[in-house]
Amino acid sequence: MQAFANRRHRVQSAMNKNDVAIFISAPALIRSNDVHHRFRQDSDFYYLTGFDEEEAVLVLESDRSILYLRKRDPEKETWNGPMLGVDRAVATLAVDEARDINSFRTDLPAILKNRESLYYMFGRNREMDGFLLETSDRLLRRSRAGDFGPSRIIHSAVLLHEMRLIKDAGEIELMREAADITADAHLALFEKTRVSMFEFELESIIHEAFRRRNATEAYPSIVAAGKNACILHYIKNDEKIGQDQLILVDAGAEKQYMNGDVTRTYPSGKTYTSPQRDTYEVVLNAQLKAIDRTVPGISMEEVHNLTVRDLVSGLIDLKVLSGSVDENIESGSFRKFYMHRTGHWLGLDVHDVGSYNVDGMPRKMEPGMICTVEPGLYFPEDESVPQAFRGIGIRIEDDVLVTSGKPEVLTSRIPKSIKEIEAIRSGA
Ligand code: CA
Repeated sequence: MQAFANRRHRVQSAMNKNDVAIFISAPALIRSNDVHHRFRQDSDFYYLTGFDEEEAVLVLESDRSILYLRKRDPEKETWNGPMLGVDRAVATLAVDEARDINSFRTDLPAILKNRESLYYMFGRNREMDGFLLETSDRLLRRSRAGDFGPSRIIHSAVLLHEMRLIKDAGEIELMREAADITADAHLALFEKTRVSMFEFELESIIHEAFRRRNATEAYPSIVAAGKNACILHYIKNDEKIGQDQLILVDAGAEKQYMNGDVTRTYPSGKTYTSPQRDTYEVVLNAQLKAIDRTVPGISMEEVHNLTVRDLVSGLIDLKVLSGSVDENIESGSFRKFYMHRTGHWLGLDVHDVGSYNVDGMPRKMEPGMICTVEPGLYFPEDESVPQAFRGIGIRIEDDVLVTSGKPEVLTSRIPKSIKEIEAIRSGA
């Protein structure tokens, strides 16, 4: 709980004495009728509290933290399990004060009174947005009585998301664990996949690997055999695996709110076919170079542009593209085969927060940032590519921690060289 308290203190120390910050928990979401999705706390709220219940509000003043939460309710606990409750919150979560959530609305005018700025993630909860704005406005209009309310509302992303971009020691430890569980799944797939199995059977292998270590899917797993790999967000996962196909699996574990995000592309049989191998080598070469480049001082944008050069050069070698590298980059011809970015921030959210630009310029990497490195090539089944390559889709994705020295590949336990993968596929 000390780590969460430290984060709150960092937010507080960035606030002026007269400011206040308000953070709202995630709502419970309906899946269908009266069945709910498994509750997942709002990432920002979790980052500051470590508290995973719904109907909660965190108020940060420059020198005090107040958590509003549900009172314990024996009947609710019978159905849904134990609740923390107001009485235990201070000791458990190390906040300064805990109050009943039912008093939040009555308390709000006092919380906002005589504040200059309000930090708040507006735009996520219409009802709360309206309530905060109305209350602030009412206080401002009472100024004749000598009171005022916050005339400035600042989106708390400017404070919090910059913090979340640089991972602390505890987060890095959990990211290693999420990566390790993710590795279990991909290794099991390398060993257990057989021709004629269905994609959903592979998906169940992923689930088993995650659940046996008390993790869940960070996002719906993509298990794409053959040409399905060219559908970037393929999650139907219901087709049969054929001979000499490639299988693209994009699957990552979420462990205690931290996420893995990994893709491997391996043969349905023991070996890659020749066109698959040639394409794989282009993607792998680009990926290894991109990882080496993931060091302080370079931007995600630069890594991407250099990766595009490597992929285009490979596409020319494969005779999928003709002309020079520069010509193809200029014309954008490669976008038909490489249409996504080379990486994204990773952490509490799979597509993690934190701006990609600072002062209008691409942001430079710093130690403690974690990103994916995920080049790919996708060949549609049409005349634009030589027959042998049609329907091949390959992506190789790892999770990389930027350090002051060499980048640390958190997911390095999962093989990706052709030699290593073929050895496992051959039962060697
Ligand atoms: Ca991914």
